[in-house]
This record gives sequence, C-alpha cells and structure tokens, in this order.
Amino acid sequence: MDKDVWYKKGVRFSCTQCGRCCTGPEGFVWVNDNEMKKIAQYLNISLEELKEKHTHLVKREENPKNGSLKKYKKKRSLTEIPSEKNPGDFDCTFLAEDGACSIYPHRPKQCRTYPFWPEILKSKRSWENEARYCEGINHKEANVVAFPSIQENLTEQIQYERTHKPSEES
Ligand code: SF4
Ligand code: SF4
Repeated sequence: MDKDVWYKKGVRFSCTQCGRCCTGPEGFVWVNDNEMKKIAQYLNISLEELKEKHTHLVKREENPKNGSLKKYKKKRSLTEIPSEKNPGDFDCTFLAEDGACSIYPHRPKQCRTYPFWPEILKSKRSWENEARYCEGINHKEANVVAFPSIQENLTEQIQYERTHKPSEES
C-alpha cells in the first residue's frame, strides 16, 4: 500500500463513545455469519433470535452518488430502530442508553475499523469532513494513531469489503 499518503505521520483519533456513529440517518452495518455467531454467544441467545431481533436481510443498496442499485442475495445488516432521543434518526439496536455499544467486544468489523475507512482516508479533506460528524477525530486530547495502525485498520476494512461473505440462509 502507498506509504506516501497524507496521513503517514499519523492522525489524531480517540473514540469518546459519544455514540453518534451508532445513530443518525438509516444506513447499513454489515454483519457476516461468523460475527453473528460471536454476538449471539456473547448475548447468550440463539443465532436465530439474534438474526430476528437485531439484523435484517438487505436485497439492494443504492449508490448515493449516481442512484445505481447494487443487488444482493443474502447480505445482512444490523437493524436500526427510530431514535427516542433524536426524532428522525435511527439507532442501532445495540446502542445503550449511555451512548455505549452493548456488544463492544464483538462489534462487527465495520464498527471496529471506523474511521479508518477508504472513503474517509482518501484525502485530508474527507478526514476533516468526517471530523464534523465524529468528535473523536482530531480530538484535542486524542493520541496520535500511528501510520502502521491506520494501515492495519484500513487493510482489514478493504479486505472485509472484498470478501464479506453473505449469510448462508435462504
Ligand atoms: S462518532 Fe466517533 S467518537 Fe463518537 S462513538 Fe463514533 S467513533 Fe466514537
Ligand atoms: S454494533 Fe455497536 S458500535 Fe456498531 S453501530 Fe451498533 S452500537 Fe454502534
């Protein structure tokens, strides 16, 4: 991966657990079979119960840039519910009252690698734009996340996006 990138000296980020990335407009938090099994075990519920209460199948996704549709057969996302605190927004069902993630040790990869996603790291500008949304980005008390750690997260996210295995049920 290219080492001559704008973030080679690291970036300031530390999650404040404000919970903002777990609420907001409707979106997708992709979750695969392996992740669902681990979450179900952690919650001590069956896989079926987890799927029914906390996930849903997504058959299509619209590209916001050009309106084109990506069609999926068996891809799952965590479910969101209308937010009580912020009317008009949608909360992940694992978002706790205090803004923390109630499955934190087993949250999906997409949550783990945020904000080190390709679309956010693609330029300093996109990173700064994301900082308007995530208070942990460029937070004055945050430590600098070093380049190797950024790359590790970025690579994991890219690989996950490429290899995300859809759920196996019909
Ligand atoms: S928006 Fe940023 S600071 Fe807030 S919970 Fe998400 S990652 Fe953490
Ligand atoms: S699983 Fe946890 S970290 Fe991910 S969106 Fe839901 S509450 Fe947030």
